[in-house]
Amino acid sequence: MTFKIRLYNTLTASKEELITYENDLVKLYVCGPTVYDRPHLGNARSVVVYDLLYRLLLQNYSKVIYVRNITDVDDKINAKAKELQIPISTLTNEITDFFHADILALNTLSPSHEPKATEHISEMINLIEKLIINNHAYVQNNHVLFDVNSYKKYGQLSRRNLDQMIAGSRVEIASYKKNPLDFVLWKPADNDDDQSSIFDSPWGKGRPGWHIECSAMSSKYLGDNFDIHGGGADLQFPHHENEIAQSCCANPSSSYARFWIHNGFLTVNGEKMSKSLKNFITVFDLLEQGISGVAIRLMLLTTHYRKPFDFNAKALSDAQKTLEKFDKIIAETLELFGLEKNLEYFCDKNFIAKEILASLADDLNFSKVLANLHDLAKNVKSNFNEIMPRRILISSLDFLGLIAKNK
Ligand SMILES: [Zn+2]
Repeated sequence: MTFKIRLYNTLTASKEELITYENDLVKLYVCGPTVYDRPHLGNARSVVVYDLLYRLLLQNYSKVIYVRNITDVDDKINAKAKELQIPISTLTNEITDFFHADILALNTLSPSHEPKATEHISEMINLIEKLIINNHAYVQNNHVLFDVNSYKKYGQLSRRNLDQMIAGSRVEIASYKKNPLDFVLWKPADNDDDQSSIFDSPWGKGRPGWHIECSAMSSKYLGDNFDIHGGGADLQFPHHENEIAQSCCANPSSSYARFWIHNGFLTVNGEKMSKSLKNFITVFDLLEQGISGVAIRLMLLTTHYRKPFDFNAKALSDAQKTLEKFDKIIAETLELFGLEKNLEYFCDKNFIAKEILASLADDLNFSKVLANLHDLAKNVKSNFNEIMPRRILISSLDFLGLIAKNK
């Protein structure tokens, strides 16, 4: 570790210095996509924000384990496959491939592990069994449910008590639940379910609840205690609250993730993005219009990750103009020095500007990063024939994923 990183931790509602469980190793888990639809801009924002964090961590720790799951068993997937009249596995494989292609265009690095929920059913069953043994879960009407009354700390992440949580969320009221907030760990299969979404369990054939998937996969790859858990602000409650409850109750000595990071919402021209409003925009839609993935990436990063981001024509054209300016410097550099040095020479992680790392280490302050980049560009201009200012700027752009290499 060479510098201190400070991040806003939702759990403590404060900016804190990142202190990891193990020296020089950091473990990061981020909730990945539910693969029933091509990634929209809100999904892309989350992927790009955690990619930026991952790049910063890689620069500061000798080892980073980054896990981003794929949810390939879920009610939404079943519904979509039925609607399209295709097998679930055809749908999930196709959407997973689309997801990978779209986020590659955004210049994101691959995580260390990308576990699929369907390949970790036995881990989920083990976790549910532990919860039943520890009196935190009960079986009712072929469902296994988590008993929220059994966990005193429930609500710690979203800072709400049980009544506020019931009032503020669309919880499914079912007569077999002890408390309306009790959530499903395992649900029975429907008669017309596709075979690939039906799994054997001690409670009959069925499928896991969404929340247990992340608890099982994070502990498999990162252990019961790990450093950072990330996801969209919309996942804070109930998804992340439920992950904490499950993991801490199954393993009472565990405190699960130490840092909780949440990225803000995304709107389109000031309105919530939704299919009914016909303002639903996917990454692929923009790529199809000839907009570069790197421009989309820069645009998504320009607003601080915790604030809401509004997608509009100006945000996009500002990002495009900024990139044009930097692309011009890269082209000019290769013209000046290209005979002796190639682009790789100018993309050297040992030459990333220190001030950019410092800006990122301050809770991913990207507006400061942009100001730093513009200062570096000024420095290039005033020292036109010198190689070093160019090497620092281009290495920094490369580190931030702002040079299109995946064309
Ligand atoms: Zn999750």
